[in-house]
Amino acid sequence: MKTEVKEARKSEVKEERKREVKEAVKKHSLLQIAPTIAEIFSIPLKTDAKSLEEVLNFVHKSGIGGNFRVILLVIDSLDWQFFKDFASSLRRMHALASSGLLFKCETVSEHTTPAIASILTGLRPESHGILTENDVGKSGVDSILEILDAHGIKTAAVLEEKGAKPLKGKISFVFPVRDREDILDYDEEVKEKTLLALKKASMIFAHFRAIDRFAHRSLDMREAARFTDENVGEIVNAVAADAAKGVETLFFLCGDHRTHGGMRRGEGGSGSGEREDSVPLIFRIFA
Ligand SMILES: [Zn+2]
Repeated sequence: MKTEVKEARKSEVKEERKREVKEAVKKHSLLQIAPTIAEIFSIPLKTDAKSLEEVLNFVHKSGIGGNFRVILLVIDSLDWQFFKDFASSLRRMHALASSGLLFKCETVSEHTTPAIASILTGLRPESHGILTENDVGKSGVDSILEILDAHGIKTAAVLEEKGAKPLKGKISFVFPVRDREDILDYDEEVKEKTLLALKKASMIFAHFRAIDRFAHRSLDMREAARFTDENVGEIVNAVAADAAKGVETLFFLCGDHRTHGGMRRGEGGSGSGEREDSVPLIFRIFA
């Protein structure tokens, strides 16, 4: 074969692969997180959403043993475009993604409460019925947190008081965080309590809100991004230190919906027109 023909074929194959990857990426959804975690712990979960094959393969290949824990950080309003536009302020998260797996996930709602309920149940809002704060704890659908705890896997949740209350008595460790005007101070407490939860539980869920609050208030998004990234970095440092001592961590981090407020129509950088309804999901193993 002539060199040019070979090269042409090579680039064709490359393009083809790119297309395949893109298509695969498109199919991912936030609904896949709960079934993936359920499968990692070998616990059944009622949902039509498929688990993330790539994550399970990654876990399988890594040969994770018995002494592992799972952490799931939800970063409010961290959407795909924000993740890219503010890359220079989100270095720790980008480092996590490049040393692990990065998925572009379809969102299921524009609002926090139903979005997080979907992340934690693997069900669409119309199926779990948790649409406003008032529905929390009343839907009759258990989240992955309650299900794991019922199977003897010690579970912890770090979240705002009202969301935390219905979990009391249903999971091993509830860390409520009182809402306040100073959202950086709020997130600081989320981080501190997450570091505490790491010492106690095998499944930890935590929800950071600074980026969302800053977007709603039209404040400097770089500050929110940097601050959130530092908090994530401290948690990463803690799990990396634990890994050196033989405690393995499967680390998930994702956004919940597209970025709110003035950020919405792409004022945040390169974007033009409506923002896409997609968020990053990062997965990394510390072992
Ligand atoms: Zn939200």
